[in-house]
Amino acid sequence: MTPDKIGKPLSRPGCITMAGYPTDVHSSFLRGAALAPARIREALFCGSANLCCENGFDLGAETRLSDRGDVALAELSGQKLFDVIRLETAALLQEDHRLLALGGDHFITWPIVAAHADRFGPLDILHLDAHSDLYDDFEGSRWSHASPFARIMEAGLAARLVQVGIRTQTPRLREQALRFGVEVIEMKDCTPLPSLAFDRPVYLSLDLDVLDPAFAPGVSHHEPGGFTTREVLSLIQSLPAPPVGADIVEYNPVRDPAGITAMAAAKLAKEIAAAMLTPRGGRTA
Ligand code: MN
Ligand code: MN
Repeated sequence: MTPDKIGKPLSRPGCITMAGYPTDVHSSFLRGAALAPARIREALFCGSANLCCENGFDLGAETRLSDRGDVALAELSGQKLFDVIRLETAALLQEDHRLLALGGDHFITWPIVAAHADRFGPLDILHLDAHSDLYDDFEGSRWSHASPFARIMEAGLAARLVQVGIRTQTPRLREQALRFGVEVIEMKDCTPLPSLAFDRPVYLSLDLDVLDPAFAPGVSHHEPGGFTTREVLSLIQSLPAPPVGADIVEYNPVRDPAGITAMAAAKLAKEIAAAMLTPRGGRTA
């Protein structure tokens, strides 16, 4: 793990800062996601692959990308955790950096999106996940990693929420989607891949369990029938405009002894960074 390998902290505008958010206190089923940022960095820099992206960007030579390391979150929870993540993210955005966040569980998206909405106004959010994460509360907790998008929608932080790959809807979650006006493209309707269009700045939130467990076994909630890694890469590469911010969440190294999911997360991080750096999205060559 050598964060400096992709550049020193930058001060000029328009740069992407990668940051880890190591927290899993609001995970409902298994903990372990707090270990993820370090393992994703190890995969990114492990030497078995290179830092070139499919559109030709070499992130190893890219001066617009840096890694600030992990935000110190220890065992913070609830409002305190929310406030630290929101403030740390706001500080990055004030320097006109764009964030590529490595979770952590899906709780982190709520305070990160709150900071983005302060900076950019209400966003369009593209949320890739097996789960809609729209519970009012889960097992009594409104901070749960199963609830961030309920919090985001009730706070008016998103103009549009487009969820893709969902395959665990309950009657209650369908009601919640209707109540919040969420656009849900269920996994069963993703052949062929949907073509996505947005009018506002887009924030991309990628829960790794949107991938089929065959491609990403290292997640807390295995849900068969998901995307291939290639399909998610295609969705990212076909975005009509660069995302203004992104997160990759729910990698659980405890369930990934062979490191397969770490490498999938690293590959997705590279391609999301490339999409964020590409003026009009998609391939440059
Ligand atoms: Mn999920
Ligand atoms: Mn999720």
